Amino acid sequence: MTYQDLVHAILVRWPRTTAISVRPVTTHACEECEQVDELLGGKTWMDVARNFPSYCHDAYPLLTSHAQAYYLPSYMISALTENNSQAASVEAYLCSDNFKRDTLSDDQVDLIQEWVNARLEPDYDQKSIQLITAKLRA
Ligand SMILES: [Zn+2]
Repeated sequence: MTYQDLVHAILVRWPRTTAISVRPVTTHACEECEQVDELLGGKTWMDVARNFPSYCHDAYPLLTSHAQAYYLPSYMISALTENNSQAASVEAYLCSDNFKRDTLSDDQVDLIQEWVNARLEPDYDQKSIQLITAKLRA
């Protein structure tokens, strides 16, 4: 799958859920987290994917685990369309205990695997890729 096909597939096939109602979407109350909550909180993952706030490019680790799960497709898309470090943030999340395979549909798991193959496989640590792939297949 090309990057463009993958972006399209995520936008079309990821469930169009409403914005999460729990605020803040960040884990604590420093100035940066408050700013990130203002920019992302109340927005749907599609809004964020379509118009990604540049301030939030490296903010993924600051999000609550709930917000990380919700905004995962936004960060996956942005890592395919913008020149930034978001792929590394998503990689770290998928390797972490915050990432729960059992809350996802088979369709979502397939798309995450496609994203890993397209975005991470060429230049990221093969051990991370194997770990993520094993988690997705569990
Ligand atoms: Zn903070």
